[in-house]
Amino acid sequence: MSNMSNPLQPAAWQASTQAVHAGEDRNRPYHALIDPIVQTATYIFDDYEDIQHFIQAQNEGLPSDRLDYGRYGNPTVRVVEERLAALEHGEAALLLASGMAAVTTTLLSFLSSGDHIILTDDCYRRTREFGINFLRRFGVESTVVPMGDESALQAAIQINTKFIVSETPTNPYLRVLDVERVACLAKKHQIKTLVDSTFATPFNLRPLDYAIDLVVHSGTKYLSGHHDILSGVVIGGAADIALIRDHACTLGPVADPQNAYLLLRGLKTLALRVRHQNQSAMQIAHFLETQPMIETVYYPGLESHPDHAVAAKQMRGFGGVVSFTLKGDLEQTARFIDALTIPFITPSLGGAESLVNQPALMSYYSLSAAEREAIGISDNLVRYAVGFEDAQDLLNDLAQALAVFEKQNQQAAYGRP
Ligand code: PLP
Repeated sequence: MSNMSNPLQPAAWQASTQAVHAGEDRNRPYHALIDPIVQTATYIFDDYEDIQHFIQAQNEGLPSDRLDYGRYGNPTVRVVEERLAALEHGEAALLLASGMAAVTTTLLSFLSSGDHIILTDDCYRRTREFGINFLRRFGVESTVVPMGDESALQAAIQINTKFIVSETPTNPYLRVLDVERVACLAKKHQIKTLVDSTFATPFNLRPLDYAIDLVVHSGTKYLSGHHDILSGVVIGGAADIALIRDHACTLGPVADPQNAYLLLRGLKTLALRVRHQNQSAMQIAHFLETQPMIETVYYPGLESHPDHAVAAKQMRGFGGVVSFTLKGDLEQTARFIDALTIPFITPSLGGAESLVNQPALMSYYSLSAAEREAIGISDNLVRYAVGFEDAQDLLNDLAQALAVFEKQNQQAAYGRP
C-alpha cells in the first residue's frame, strides 16, 4: 500500500516523525489506520490488457502501483522501504531477510572478479569473513586496515579498489568512523563506500548526509527493536538500490511480509527507544569508569574513548552498547556475567531486554585464544547492550555483580576462608 510520490512525506521531518509516518499511504485500504500485512506469494492480473499495461510500465521504467510476484516486491515491504529511505535521508531502500543478506547482496551486486575491497577491522565477524574468504573464491581481493588509521586506508587503495566497507560504531569496541573524511577520500578515488550503521541507528547518525554511498543495517537490532525478527536493509541512491534490487530478485534473500510488518511496528517507537538507550548507556558507561574492578570502558560518549571527538562531531547520541574489560581472566569474567540478574546472556542488541555477552565465549568461541588475540578479542571483554529497563535498576544490578566478582577474585587469590 505504498505511494512513492506521496506529497505528505517532507524530507525535512525529524526522525521521530518519519519513523511514524514516512512511506505511508493516507488512503488506507478498508479505512484501517494500520498498514495491512499483504500475505501473498503472487499477484493476479485481470486480463490481457492488464498484463500489457504492466509489461509496458516495466519496459519503460515507469512507476507502477502493482506487482506480479512475491520475490519482486510486496506492498507491506514497500512501506518499510520508503520509511527507512526517508529516515536515512536516502533516495531508496531495499529490505532483505537479514543484515547479512543486506551486506552480501550489496557487495555481490557491484563486485566482479579482479576487483579489490578495503575493510576496516573490528567489524562484524561474518562481514569480515565474507569480505576476506568468500569473495576471494570469486577473484575479489581484500585488505583489512585498522579502524581510524587514515594513512593505512589511503595506502591500501589500489587501482582496482571498488569498495570501502566499514561499520560505525564497531562491534565490540565501539570505534567510530569519520564518515565525512572517508567519503571524501573515497570520492577522490571513485570508490564506493558502504557503512554498516546498525549500532548507530538513523536516530543517532545518517551517514548518507556525509556523502557515504550506501548504508546497511541489521534490522534485527534497533530498527525492529524487540528481538523477535531477523531483517536487513540497504539504503542509498535510487540507481544503486535498483541495481541491488535486481540482483536480490535473482539471489532471493527477500523480506517476509510478516517481518516487514513487525519492523514497521517497531520503527514507530525508534526515536523513543533509542533516546532512552542512549541515556542509559551513557549512565552505565560513566558508572563503570568509576569501578575499581573495571579495567577499561569502551563507549564513544566517554571522553576517554579514542574516537570521542569524531563521535561528538557526527552523532546525536552515542548508542546503546557499552563494552568493557574486567580485571580478571576468561572464567572470572564469565562468572561476573553469571552474577548479573537483569540482562540475558546472548549475542544480539537493540531490543527491549538488555543483553550481555562475552565475545571470547560467544561470537568468537570457534577461534583459538591466539586467533582471538590477533583480532583484539580479549578474554575479559564484556559487551553490554542496554534495553528499555530503568537505568538505575541496571546500575544496581551491575554493582551487585561487581561485588560478587570482587569477592570471588579475592577468594581465588587468598584461598577460601
Ligand atoms: N552488522 C552488524 C553490526 C551486526 O552486529 C550484525 C549481527 O549481529 C549483522 C550485521 C548481521 O545481521 P543479521 O544477524 O541480521 O544478519
